[in-house]
Amino acid sequence: MKLRIAAVQLNPIIGHVEDNCRRAVQIIEMAFKSRQPPDLIILPELALTGYNFRNREHINPYLELKGQGRSYKLGRQLSEKYHCHTLLGYPEKSRLSSNDFKVYNSAILISPSGDVVFNYRKTFLYETDENWGCVESPDGFQAFNLNIKGHTFKTSIGICMDLNPYKFKAPFDKFEFANFCYKNDVDLVLLPTAWLNTSWSEDWTQNDVDKYTKLYHKEEAIEVNTDESQNEIILAPEEPDHFVRCEPDKKTGRYWILRMNPLYTKPHPGKKKLVIICNRSGMEGSMMYAGTSSIFEFNGGPSRFNEATGDMFIDFNVDGSLGQGNEGVLLRGVEI
Ligand code: GLN
Repeated sequence: MKLRIAAVQLNPIIGHVEDNCRRAVQIIEMAFKSRQPPDLIILPELALTGYNFRNREHINPYLELKGQGRSYKLGRQLSEKYHCHTLLGYPEKSRLSSNDFKVYNSAILISPSGDVVFNYRKTFLYETDENWGCVESPDGFQAFNLNIKGHTFKTSIGICMDLNPYKFKAPFDKFEFANFCYKNDVDLVLLPTAWLNTSWSEDWTQNDVDKYTKLYHKEEAIEVNTDESQNEIILAPEEPDHFVRCEPDKKTGRYWILRMNPLYTKPHPGKKKLVIICNRSGMEGSMMYAGTSSIFEFNGGPSRFNEATGDMFIDFNVDGSLGQGNEGVLLRGVEI
């Protein structure tokens, strides 16, 4: 079947949930106007609230109970309108007692009829998650069956840091999340993220922050990417000599491929594995995100490493990437 996917890259303004919802709807309506709507819409990690919250008090007003908050409402609206599945990240509170909650960084998957299909909680946390009092999922990585148009996909959701080594301390080649996907025969991997840009650094001075913040003051056109001729742009070795918002952050795109290593070094002939990364863009305080939302297909044939040249052959396709600094939609139909 052909699975029609829309990865919706947003630059939400922290705490401006209603504005962010309006903007998301505007971008999606523009992208789907006079086009066949997709089977699956993915939005980023904490897609409508913003991500870089200082502490628990800061995020408190935006926490949502599963299947009840503003993010879920928008996801359901999209699912019902376009008769598709919608996945989006949101900050979840789970009640412990009448005035005590556990907080998770979650992503909710909603069916075309508006029901909750799956609620995944981030397992590997980033420092920012800990700042706002988020706790690890007690269930770890999970795989489940997802039915789309009569086709069952073994699916796994990961959120941003889930793709990295645990706390950046585990061995790089443990590839925890990708190995989980491989071992569980997952064929659809969905990753909402708020991934940082490779041009960004923790050591940025206020000057750096100001310089990049200024770059984002200019309104950039919404990118509706349906152009398959540029699919492999992140693989081209040329790097521009300065930061260009509408070009992908190629290093981040290639890093994501590197982190999926088990999906191409371990063969799975005849069983394609599809990976969709929906990242956010923009500046938030002193943090800058990477955009570059991308779709990868790992086809299952063996990979080969040429010792003499250092070249690696991977049996895979890149189905496009968005720019690093804009908002937009990556629209693709993938045969699976
Ligand atoms: N380490 C990831 C990054 O560099 C994680 C961020 C996150 O979990 N949101 O962006």
